[in-house]
Amino acid sequence: MNGPGLKDTAMPVHAAMHEFAVADDMLQLGGLPLSRLAQRVGSTPFYAYERSHIVRRVAQLRAALPAGVHLHYAMKANPMPAVVQLLAGLVDGIDVASGGELATALDTPLPAHCISFAGPGKREGELARAVAAGVLVNVESRVQLEKTALASERLGVAARVAVRVNPDFALRRAGMRMGGGAQPFGVDAAQVPALLARIGELGLDFHGFHLFAGAQNLCATALAEAQSHSVRLALQLADSAPGPLRTLNIGGGFGVPYFPGDRPLDLAPVAEGLQAQLDLLGSAAPGVRLNLELGRYLVAEAGIYVCKVLERKLSHGQVFLVTDGGLHHHLAASGNFGQLIRKNYPVAIGNRLHGGEREVASVVGPLCTPLDLLADQMELARAGEGDLVVVFQSGAYGLTASPTAFLGHPLPAEVLV
Ligand SMILES: *Cc1c(COP(=O)(O)O)cnc(C)c1O
Repeated sequence: MNGPGLKDTAMPVHAAMHEFAVADDMLQLGGLPLSRLAQRVGSTPFYAYERSHIVRRVAQLRAALPAGVHLHYAMKANPMPAVVQLLAGLVDGIDVASGGELATALDTPLPAHCISFAGPGKREGELARAVAAGVLVNVESRVQLEKTALASERLGVAARVAVRVNPDFALRRAGMRMGGGAQPFGVDAAQVPALLARIGELGLDFHGFHLFAGAQNLCATALAEAQSHSVRLALQLADSAPGPLRTLNIGGGFGVPYFPGDRPLDLAPVAEGLQAQLDLLGSAAPGVRLNLELGRYLVAEAGIYVCKVLERKLSHGQVFLVTDGGLHHHLAASGNFGQLIRKNYPVAIGNRLHGGEREVASVVGPLCTPLDLLADQMELARAGEGDLVVVFQSGAYGLTASPTAFLGHPLPAEVLV
């Protein structure tokens, strides 16, 4: 393993990727060898999401968490209609953040009252559709509240509303902070009582609160702490509410290991903390429904991105695998979606996982920019033209979080297998 150019083994490494079956050194998804799957899809690059993985993930989560916790899917993580349909049968609700996502969620068998609608910039048309559908509108400002009330009046339907609160705390050690201090999301905690009074005046159907402090957290104690702060803040704010607290969405933030050194989230301390919150709510707000909204935790590890090596190229002694896929399909893996310092996603040669010979190579895409990098000098099985490069942990924030129009290459296929 320590041949010339191979990495020092003391360096942090990726968490082991054994999310999928392997046979004859080839990755298998949904019971199909990767090469067969590529033939079935008919073209590269493509995204593939494994159905059984998603089913197993939700089951494991439900087994680990207290039964009183309701699971919602935050569908911006992966809005592919087939994935959303699958998850609709597994979770208790869907959280949407646009009129487009709302339409996809309403196409599932989930009743409208299990769907909630968040987002800092909701247009009047989107609000009217949400109110007409009967979904829960997470109101994020006074202006949004007035627009929601106007839609209610026009439709003759009392909108179901919750207030998204910008909490005074942030989720510690979150990959992405979405609460604490100045934020475009939600209503500052200090302004919430006045907003609640206005909801009462307008006669809207008040349901509760939505708090979301941050995303991509691998630290269980930080998550449990944020959940505890969220419940306390909600109970305090509920004193000024025009009706009883019926729904409390305390966000999610459960992370997945992407980079060398990342370790999977330990669910046990999170579950313990949630039980404590359920106990507290049971006495302080009996009957309240406690929701967690999870995006990437449900789908990220179930998905891979696959592209084909077009050429193996040497430049100044370094190996470049030039592929037909890249940042235009998978911005996150290129390191340009919210990363401060670029780190490699877990990448492998899917049709020869271990391979005979190994070497250090960089995987690049077809775009004329140095940013189009899927793996920077990683140790991989020696690969050449026609081999299939796999980027793991790609089931969330992949295709729809990428600039697909950049340079005019074709769109990748997406399959659920
Ligand atoms: C994006 C988002 C989520 C999902 O975040 P993940 O990190 O994918 O779990 C949940 N809630 C809200 C309000 C969001 O904006």
